[in-house]
Amino acid sequence: MRHQIRSLLGTMVAPEALVPDGELECWRTGQGQQGLPAAVLAPSTEEELARVLARASEEGWRVLPAGLGRWLEGGGPSDVSVVVSTRRMQEVHEYEPANLTFTAGAGLSFSGLRKTTEPHGQWLPLDPPGGLVGSLGAAVALGIGGPLRHLYGTPRDHVLGLTLVAGDGRILRWGGRVVKNVAGFDVTRLSVGSWGSLGVVTSISARLFPIPEAEVTLIIQGGKVSVLLPLARAMALSSLPLAAVELLDPLELKGSGLAEVGAEPAGPGLVLRLLGSHAQVEEMEARVRSDLSHEVGSLQRLEGETSRAFHETLNGWEEGADLVARLCLLPSELGTLLDEAEEVRDLVSKASSPPGAGMRLSAHVGAGVLRVAVPKLPEGDGGLDPWVSSLRSLRARLEERGGSLTLSSGPSALLREVGAWGAAGEEKALMAGLKAEFDPQGILAPGRLGL
Ligand SMILES: Cc1cc2nc3c(=O)[nH]c(=O)nc-3n(C[C@H](O)[C@H](O)[C@H](O)COP(=O)(O)OP(=O)(O)OC[C@H]3O[C@@H](n4cnc5c(N)ncnc54)[C@H](O)[C@@H]3O)c2cc1C
Repeated sequence: MRHQIRSLLGTMVAPEALVPDGELECWRTGQGQQGLPAAVLAPSTEEELARVLARASEEGWRVLPAGLGRWLEGGGPSDVSVVVSTRRMQEVHEYEPANLTFTAGAGLSFSGLRKTTEPHGQWLPLDPPGGLVGSLGAAVALGIGGPLRHLYGTPRDHVLGLTLVAGDGRILRWGGRVVKNVAGFDVTRLSVGSWGSLGVVTSISARLFPIPEAEVTLIIQGGKVSVLLPLARAMALSSLPLAAVELLDPLELKGSGLAEVGAEPAGPGLVLRLLGSHAQVEEMEARVRSDLSHEVGSLQRLEGETSRAFHETLNGWEEGADLVARLCLLPSELGTLLDEAEEVRDLVSKASSPPGAGMRLSAHVGAGVLRVAVPKLPEGDGGLDPWVSSLRSLRARLEERGGSLTLSSGPSALLREVGAWGAAGEEKALMAGLKAEFDPQGILAPGRLGL
């Protein structure tokens, strides 16, 4: 069957679109034989991709859309026959600095886009986990943002239009490069965050922003995370246009150079990022300092390049952890999320040896998202059993309150037992209906979003 798929695809696409056998290991979608795709394709045109998906729909091959292939197991292992990558779709089709908009192939990396727009003093202010090396298409398909979402939002707020090759091979273009509100059903926004379940995003139009002239980061420490929480909430709710409000416990970030500025890595820290003109940043800093004056133990200040480098390190916060979970509730309920995370801490402290390998927390305070990273999970038979039951009951409690728990990364066995996503609830029928419209044979991104 694997051989058949490869030889059939070989007759349909240009030879350079077929990734050589020897490189398949780099495109794993899970562990074991199931996680090794029979073929990986990198078409250079939408038409070539459309032919492949139409054929895959006829044959019933399961297909995983991909960008540059750095995070294919994220969100849970997939058992697919074919991976289709946008890595040969990296062209900047249009860039109009005067309009602050661009259209580019989905396989273009954030750093590639930066090379084009930076000379014009413009940027796309998104900081998804994993950094600048990931593709625009992946960030859009996953709808993922990082700390900068506090001021700038997530990909859904930036994308003006996109091209999607649907599961049955239709090439669908939505929206455009004009910044305006859309009346009616907004399919562009629907496609953002669809995790490849509706189609392969092949090109994106989005708006850009002027690169801020100045940047300062203030890091506040003092006492436990529960002491910093009210301050973090107040900062997130303040009228100041802070670019990021992140609560970290512990503050420790390898390679961030924090020690040099006197920060205490073991304790929690509240990180405020200030971006704007020199005058704006100066004024914001003065206001933050006056609001803080009686409340904090210590305050460190990073500026310019040092501040930028710190946030780049923060971007890799999830790297290397055995398990990363995202707990979400309303932003006003961040305290509840922190309490709930204590259950995970109990498991970590029972399991970890040496005890130093503790749980790490990072909250996007304004969004009500708490990331929980566990550096090392127990190995061996039965070691994960208590984790399965705890994570399930934690998810049930959060869902009861209207929240969610998703597992961004973790061992396949745990993801299979617990599921990366929770119950979609009442939206499930709607999501399944949309999937049937875009991907009638259900070949794309099996299992993603619980579909
Ligand atoms: C919750 C979360 C946590 C993350 N944590 C990390 C992390 O710790 N480290 C890291 O490197 N990355 C992480 N990422 C992914 C990251 O943000 C980037 O998207 C990434 O670096 C991958 O870029 P890539 O081009 O290699 O994508 P790929 O690895 O190729 O794809 C990543 C995912 O996006 C889908 N996808 C990619 N391109 C398309 C497309 N054109 N159309 C439809 N679907 C597509 C794939 O099906 C896959 O599920 C995370 C993403 C999320 C949502």
